[in-house]
Amino acid sequence: MHFYGTSRVNGQGHLEIGGVDTVDLAAKYGTPLYVYDVALIRQRARAFKETFEQLGVHFQVAYASKAFSTIAMLQLAKEEGLSLDVVSGGELYTALAAEFPVDKIHFHGNNKSKEELEFALAANIGCIVVDNFYELDMLENLCKEKNQVMQILLRVTPGIEAHTHDYILTGQEDSKFGFDLQNGQAEAALKRALQSEYLHLLGLHCHIGSQIFETTGFILAAQKIVEKLSKWNKELEFSPSVLNLGGGFGVRYTHEDEPLSPAKYVEEIVKEVKVQAAKYELPMPEIWIEPGRSLVGEAGTTLYSIGSSKEVPNVRKYLAVNGGMSDNIRPALYDAKYEAVLANRPLAEIEETVSIAGKCCESGDMLIWDLPLPKSNDQDLLAVFCTGAYGYSMANNYNRIPRPPVVFVENGEAILVVKRETYEDLLRNDLRLSVGIGQEN
Ligand SMILES: *Cc1c(COP(=O)(O)O)cnc(C)c1O
Repeated sequence: MHFYGTSRVNGQGHLEIGGVDTVDLAAKYGTPLYVYDVALIRQRARAFKETFEQLGVHFQVAYASKAFSTIAMLQLAKEEGLSLDVVSGGELYTALAAEFPVDKIHFHGNNKSKEELEFALAANIGCIVVDNFYELDMLENLCKEKNQVMQILLRVTPGIEAHTHDYILTGQEDSKFGFDLQNGQAEAALKRALQSEYLHLLGLHCHIGSQIFETTGFILAAQKIVEKLSKWNKELEFSPSVLNLGGGFGVRYTHEDEPLSPAKYVEEIVKEVKVQAAKYELPMPEIWIEPGRSLVGEAGTTLYSIGSSKEVPNVRKYLAVNGGMSDNIRPALYDAKYEAVLANRPLAEIEETVSIAGKCCESGDMLIWDLPLPKSNDQDLLAVFCTGAYGYSMANNYNRIPRPPVVFVENGEAILVVKRETYEDLLRNDLRLSVGIGQEN
């Protein structure tokens, strides 16, 4: 088994995280339960930041909060000196509730509403990453109305799409996000932004993909963007102060994943931007990155109780847990892979191969196919690793299953940071018909 962060097997032979016995956590808070290794989140945040510091460049490391947005998590991000990406009014609201420094909040999204832009202006956040002409117009009009200047980045699509193990070069990227760098859209947007007295253009942004295991894609993106910046520097006298290369740094979900270290991603990116800036005699911009899963993914573990099982002779054995696509939709959504152990006896001898089913009414609600496990029963707890990103944040109430609670563990202490939803919570927004539909009052 692979031990993430502070995970280890303790004296009782149980899985321990952050110095806390997971069997005790399950007894105290129930299952399913999301457990976060706070020390690991801190370690990852510091690794990104310290590498930039050592390389002597100006930078921001913005946590892409869509990966896991709760008040406590954003308080932790603030404590670690991170900046923050939000992509909706709800995420911005959460950031404000966490008293996140507003000047370090960046607002993303391909279809921000007028209300969301007004919210961002009223909060006076650090910058808005403008995605399209519609937004550019709307934002400028709102700023004018309020006589307020807003800092912006333009999101561009450099024609590079990075995937887990490869990347695709496309002349004209078929993406719903951003201004195309090659076909003149980005330049048109840049000219518009430069003309505006209400928009202060800081620079460009791109995000080439997620769960990326190489630096090639980032390097190609940096090359293409800096080349354009150099052109605009000469022709339009635009000197960018920020180059934001997005997130997408890979994590280890299973033994098949071999991500680079945070330091390696940062080193390679900074090296390339320095080379490109020197080549085109551009002043070195600030470099911003936006890690989401690489900050919180490996730090999260989900604890489940094992329930029913079903043997399909000569085919497979299904083992069901008391959660599933309601707390982790990634396997159903994009065939995501995970590893797991029995939390109460992680080192017990492997005796069979089982497939872990969720409890939702969907055949596709499978968490893990073909997992080697000891023989287990309903006294056992299953710990699924690396569920910290896009787990809780994508959790839902399908089948009216209440969302699980979240516990932070660190230095032998556990803190409940999100309560378990109750059946009452599920009905919070339901309104009762006072008379039957179609009946007269
Ligand atoms: C999703 C997203 C990220 C974070 O991606 P991860 O794979 O979680 O690191 C960063 N920037 C933008 C613009 C995104 O949409």
